[in-house]
Amino acid sequence: MPELPEVEALAADLRARVAGRTIARVEVAAISALKTFDPPPTALHGRAITDAGRFGKFLDIVCGAPEPAADGDLHLVVHLARAGWLHYRDALPATPLKPGKGPIALRIRLDDGGGFDLTEQGTQKRLAAYLVRDPAQVPGVAKLGPDAQRCDLATFAARLRSRSGQVKGMLTDQEVLAGLGNAWSDEILHRAKLSPFAITTRLTDEQMAALYEATQATLAEATAKLVGQQAASLKSEKRSGMVVHNRTGLPCPVCGDTIREVSFADSSLQYCPTCQTGGKPLADRRLSKLLR
Ligand SMILES: [Zn+2]
Repeated sequence: MPELPEVEALAADLRARVAGRTIARVEVAAISALKTFDPPPTALHGRAITDAGRFGKFLDIVCGAPEPAADGDLHLVVHLARAGWLHYRDALPATPLKPGKGPIALRIRLDDGGGFDLTEQGTQKRLAAYLVRDPAQVPGVAKLGPDAQRCDLATFAARLRSRSGQVKGMLTDQEVLAGLGNAWSDEILHRAKLSPFAITTRLTDEQMAALYEATQATLAEATAKLVGQQAASLKSEKRSGMVVHNRTGLPCPVCGDTIREVSFADSSLQYCPTCQTGGKPLADRRLSKLLR
């Protein structure tokens, strides 16, 4: 799933490529992906893309009013979910998209014949696009906690201690802190030398400060590495920098111990026992169920 650094990089890439260009037409191939109906997608026709940014893991494409400016900006806010992505095309085929077929959810045609597609691989269709006048009209955006990269230590600590929960779950809860997902939280917890199952309200101030520093350092490094990359190469660049995430069975680059994982119904986390859990492997519920 694209997380804060990838969405930041996608927004930067969008700004560099299409800022100032005019939208000729929006085609919606996956009707279920568009969560709003007023204003309609046709309201984007003739508008220029003026900016791109993000709210947590939501991508915000800002579309200015056509001249003479009588109207405010419109925001196309997109949550890419687990398998969503953005693809540029210098030249789009002239034939309109056929609804309901293939991975393309939404196509934005620009007035020079190029444009970009919002796509989603796989059978689970969770990509969500919202066309709104104010990003706060998107329910998921309105509920976001403070941005993980833009909050100070006091805010960070207060949010994580707002509930007694496992630190892995709290870090990735978008209402606690916005922007982190499964991959970068694995990396942050390894860097902070914390068990993913540590309880947030039991962390010492020293551990909390280490977690905050690890979060800021990990996000700063990831963002610096990814911003400036093109959308097409972001995914492999993200993977190449990982220390523990998706590296089960490989040696930890810090201590050489074997990286382990805990599996859940539809995800898994990776960690280093020596660096994070005092050398003790964590119970893997799925594995213990199989062995019973
Ligand atoms: Zn280690």
